[in-house]
Amino acid sequence: MLDVGAGSHTEFTCEDVTMMQEKRFPVVEMQGSHFEMGQQYGQQCRGLIRDLSAQFDGIFVPDATRHRAARGAMVDAVPFVRAAAPALIEEVEGIASGADLSFEDAFRMNCSAEMGQWRGCQEQRSAVSIAEADECTTLAACTNTATLVAWNMDWHRLLQPYMVLLKGRPDDGPAFLAFALAGSVGRPGLSESIAISANQLPYRSGPTPPGADGPAWAGPGVPYCFLSRMLLEQESTAAALELLERTRRMGCLNYTLGDATGDICCVETTPTAQAVLPREESFVTHANSYHSPRFSGLPQAERERRDPRAHAAQTLLLDHRGRVERDVITMAQRYHFPGQCTGVCHHTETTMTLLSFVAEVGQGRMWAAYGSPCEHAFLPYSLEPPRRRSRSGVHG
Ligand SMILES: [Zn+2]
Repeated sequence: MLDVGAGSHTEFTCEDVTMMQEKRFPVVEMQGSHFEMGQQYGQQCRGLIRDLSAQFDGIFVPDATRHRAARGAMVDAVPFVRAAAPALIEEVEGIASGADLSFEDAFRMNCSAEMGQWRGCQEQRSAVSIAEADECTTLAACTNTATLVAWNMDWHRLLQPYMVLLKGRPDDGPAFLAFALAGSVGRPGLSESIAISANQLPYRSGPTPPGADGPAWAGPGVPYCFLSRMLLEQESTAAALELLERTRRMGCLNYTLGDATGDICCVETTPTAQAVLPREESFVTHANSYHSPRFSGLPQAERERRDPRAHAAQTLLLDHRGRVERDVITMAQRYHFPGQCTGVCHHTETTMTLLSFVAEVGQGRMWAAYGSPCEHAFLPYSLEPPRRRSRSGVHG
């Protein structure tokens, strides 16, 4: 099936990929209390946020007859977030104020993954409750000099214009860089001592795979965007795993974690269960299938066929065992399956890799490609505050 042996890694078959474009993400500077940060964000991205908000329900739940129920299911999560991370509720209040949205609409912009997973349950999709579009590949590696955490975020093409990079300096916590769909408090990224990346997993309420009538919605918990920010507040991978242990969640995702001491792992989560996949090499990789025996995950022998992006990334890194550095990670992120225009770097008519990043944990820096990493250069971004702020606050 997959040939990822020596010599095939860089032979892209897409004819139009000749020059790397140097395009930067809009960087949203936020500083102060959480309400103030949210308000700065809402004001800086007001147009983007309002535009996405107007389409939001239709993108993630195309059947308009389900919108009212979907909105109810998402607002049910508010008390869970208020209990687990009250500062992030203040941030949503700030975003709502800055962008002139209702609190409920601003809150729901943090529930895009959960809207999709909820919809899968309503449609009784049994094998998976997420569409093919809900992809993503994650990697982490402990090199001779650094801990690296990497992410290809793959989703609907139409979301590309709404991707921003939040650069936060809260009064009461570590500085962070987190990618976001405009309006949400963030997705994976880097903070002072840890970095995270994530993959959606097929929805199930607990550890057991769903039966023939599809997965049952387990109800509210803390959505992925809030959990991403909570994880970025932690000082270590161990602390992040403890946070997951004590937090009821609202969706099913794998989190790939790495801290400055070189502690890397993947952790597969459902609303009420989690399973850590410790590293067996100097690196870990993950895509959109359960691997843990606790979740009856895919055995290694089946991954080439049924989880080809994770398999390809793992095979590429194994080929470079002992010398997995940032250039090897980005090569894996740019990889296309032989003879195809898609792979770890994902392209279909309606979906694509919206961003790729590699974070160097503890060094306060990351490299990120805007959109397809086969077409865009990885450019540096830093946790350090800028020397002077631009008038608009949004840097191109
Ligand atoms: Zn590509």
